[in-house]
Amino acid sequence: MSRHAAVREARPARPSTGDAALRIDPSVCDGVGICAHLAADLITVDSWGYPIVRAEPLRSGSERRQAEAAVAACPRKALRITG
Ligand code: SF4
Repeated sequence: MSRHAAVREARPARPSTGDAALRIDPSVCDGVGICAHLAADLITVDSWGYPIVRAEPLRSGSERRQAEAAVAACPRKALRITG
């Protein structure tokens, strides 16, 4: 086994997020905004306090965990992860 092969095998697998993305159904959102605190890298709020969810796919395990936390905490079930 070459040195490079050993290094490749020793590294943990990079979290795969594929095309997964966080999505919101604004018709059920109440705008309280707990999601923006839990997923600060993915959600900002507008001037009324309603969330604006980033359209791009999740790029890392950290973003995936933030998205999952926001989905779990949303009292209106307005958030979901697609892909
Ligand atoms: S937690 Fe859910 S209901 Fe509350 S602002 Fe975020 S998406 Fe809307």
